[in-house]
Amino acid sequence: MTEPADAAARRSVPPVICYPVDTLPQPDMGLYQSLLEGMTKTDEILVPPRDAKCFQVPAGHVFRITSVEGPQVGDLNLWNALDLSERFFSGKTRALHGTHVTTGDRLWSSLPSLRPMATVIEDTLAWYGIDRYGGSVHDVIGTRCDPYTHALLSQGGQYHYCCHSNLTRALASFKNISLSEAEPHIHDVLNVFMCTGFTRDTGQYFMKASPVRPGDHLDIFAEIDLLGALSACPGGDCGSEHSSDTVTCHPLLVEIFAPLPENLANWQPPDPSAYDRSHGA
Ligand SMILES: [Zn+2]
Repeated sequence: MTEPADAAARRSVPPVICYPVDTLPQPDMGLYQSLLEGMTKTDEILVPPRDAKCFQVPAGHVFRITSVEGPQVGDLNLWNALDLSERFFSGKTRALHGTHVTTGDRLWSSLPSLRPMATVIEDTLAWYGIDRYGGSVHDVIGTRCDPYTHALLSQGGQYHYCCHSNLTRALASFKNISLSEAEPHIHDVLNVFMCTGFTRDTGQYFMKASPVRPGDHLDIFAEIDLLGALSACPGGDCGSEHSSDTVTCHPLLVEIFAPLPENLANWQPPDPSAYDRSHGA
């Protein structure tokens, strides 16, 4: 194929940000920072390696995901605790905030609600930035490791502890429903602590060993009543491979905290989208 004569000129057109965020309501980070002072821990859940656990976070509470024992990546699903059809929308979160999230970014819910179901209020890996490979931490570009893609790429190989399966088992157990009832609720994740990007030459999704170390944590504020599920990925730090029992894996700790009521006095829970849903009909 030959390039058109003006190929260079066409390539040199500068990009335009799809979703300029100047009109996006900005979180009051002063308010969110104040919540971290004087919180009371109300619950904790240890997620075993190559497994997942569900946890509940009332609106106005904070949940903290902490690396314990060794570098480990977590795959996070979030639902409206009162309506599982409203769930984390990784694609729109990516469109609004970019490929990776950190302090001050929102975790948006699916249509038609499209509201900030949670807000990242502290990230001890925020120093990482974007490395020379284009990699960064806490991505919303991956999906979740799953046994179907594994079977596709390994000529029918069967592996049962991918994050997709771990999340499915955890939700089925928590809601006391069957695996087949639980599975459709599993959705694209926030890849907590995972370091990923796209190669500059081929545009392929890559991962590299997570910079997370024990004690590092991500604090997330629940804007609505949340049901969460977190899988400790079989990829461990995701520095080599996933979808196998090959690499060393570690648990992840989830802690739930209740802020001091006076620190929440100026917080308002988010309304669902203002769109009237008439769709032009
Ligand atoms: Zn995984």
